[in-house]
Amino acid sequence: MQSTEQETSFLSDRILALAESQTIAMAKKARELAAQGHDVINLSFGEPDFQTPDYIKEAAKKALDDGFTFYTPVPGYLDLRQEIVAKLKRDNDLDYKPENIVVSTGAKQSIANAVMCLVNPGDEVIIFSPYWVSYEEVVKLAEGIPVQVKGNIENNFVITPQQLEDAITSNTKLVMYSSPCNPTGSVFSKDELLAFARILEKHPQVYIIADEIYEYINFTGEHASMAQFDFIKDRVITVNGFSKGYAMTGWRVGYIAACKEIADACDKMQSQITSGTCSIAQKAALAALKGGKSAAEEMTAAYLRRRDMVLGLMKDIPGIKTYVPQGAFYIFPDISAYFGKTTTEGKVIHNSFDLSMYLLNDAYVAAVSGDAFGADECMRFSFAASDAKLEEAMGRLKVSLAKLK
Ligand code: PMP
Ligand code: GLU
Repeated sequence: MQSTEQETSFLSDRILALAESQTIAMAKKARELAAQGHDVINLSFGEPDFQTPDYIKEAAKKALDDGFTFYTPVPGYLDLRQEIVAKLKRDNDLDYKPENIVVSTGAKQSIANAVMCLVNPGDEVIIFSPYWVSYEEVVKLAEGIPVQVKGNIENNFVITPQQLEDAITSNTKLVMYSSPCNPTGSVFSKDELLAFARILEKHPQVYIIADEIYEYINFTGEHASMAQFDFIKDRVITVNGFSKGYAMTGWRVGYIAACKEIADACDKMQSQITSGTCSIAQKAALAALKGGKSAAEEMTAAYLRRRDMVLGLMKDIPGIKTYVPQGAFYIFPDISAYFGKTTTEGKVIHNSFDLSMYLLNDAYVAAVSGDAFGADECMRFSFAASDAKLEEAMGRLKVSLAKLK
């Protein structure tokens, strides 16, 4: 009898069942090929290609000189939480107190905290799909049951209120989505969120994780928050952070705003797992918020220009179906027209993973297969890269795809 990894490994069932993050796995493959001397254009990893703005770096240097080298309070420095409260009022018209805020080691940890604090084994968690890679795995880690509700490209991947309503059962505990969305760039308008909120109002056992990490990278000019609807506000966990808007991916600072019970639970969770996040990074995050949004606006203008450039170039590639992303820095086109085609070496492309591997090895362009986001017919390309790299990547894509017969 053939033994499975699960039967033979000394590792826990929990970790064996966990999938590796596909965004990180693809970025790793791209780096390996680059290390072998190949000219790889990496459009797989979701991070700004900009440096953290100088005024933020200066604040970090000052924090060191001022001696901020000790453990920090588990939910974050009070001055940072106060500044987050001010930001939530200024940008989102949301009223919170510092006791509602828990700063963590990135929005990724904030999401994991919230899921761990809310989901019991067997609870259903509705995930708007396509979804960010980590949602499903973190729900499984909490022994919850992920339930995907899927939008389609014709509708800019926005699901309908009816789809949400149909997915809710007496076992539903949580709903999760990102807006602007990773991987699609879709943005929910206030009216769309209100329609979801009215449905959720009828189900008081259901909580909502609203992941707003791409808030500042929004091309519509309007950002709406689920917590703005008072009738469900206490059930909404708003997740945000500094990685995307302020180009601070490596600093590892994210946060939630939630009712006190959930905030206290997340505080307790991270008190046992990580403690408060890095002192220097928190002081940098404080300076970032105090500096307002102008740096984010400059970067967003560049992302918008690049989005349009990539869209223009993709339109020229047969078999790629596009739409117009409204935020974030990804495009998630339908590439399924290439399924069933064969490479010059005779290998058949069965799915988005096969296509991503082909493009990596033939064009040296790294992108993430759509199956990682719950949509195998698509592939995610980041446009957080220089204009020259994007242009070159789209050119290579066209050539490599044309070779598939
Ligand atoms: N949510 C979404 C939708 C993301 O794309 C990311 C990016 N990694 C995160 C959360 C986590 O961000 P952070 O770097 O703050 O952990
Ligand atoms: N959020 C980014 C992405 O989607 C970074 C990678 C990750 O944290 O998984 O690519």
